[in-house]
Amino acid sequence: MKDSKPRKKPTRAPVLPPAGFTCRVCGIRKPKEAYPAKGRRGYICQTCAKVSLPKRVGLQQEEEIFHFLRQACISPANQARLETLTALRSSAVASKASLVLEVARSYPFKKNRLRDMSRENPALLQKLREVGLVMSY
Ligand SMILES: [Zn+2]
Repeated sequence: MKDSKPRKKPTRAPVLPPAGFTCRVCGIRKPKEAYPAKGRRGYICQTCAKVSLPKRVGLQQEEEIFHFLRQACISPANQARLETLTALRSSAVASKASLVLEVARSYPFKKNRLRDMSRENPALLQKLREVGLVMSY
């Protein structure tokens, strides 16, 4: 015999994000204890806070350059940002930025970028490999 009353759907517990905060520098979600107790200024974990400010900014800029190569297209606005990064005093960031800017000017789109570059400009591809930026594909 069938029930006349409609059955109640089993309620599922809401999916909550893991406790804690995401660090602005390393992007890793860490528990509350990993952050300094002094307010919630910027959410920078204690491991990242130990790194000096110029070094931290340099790491963020290198991550930014790496991200440009993962995008489907390096837009003119991105190229303008790369130009400002090439003008920096930090030589490691500036050299990477100039290399990626060179790539962006001749191969702005990600599709077939590596294939075309290996055919037309293998020297540029070799430079990218040496810097370690090809891994981003
Ligand atoms: Zn961190």
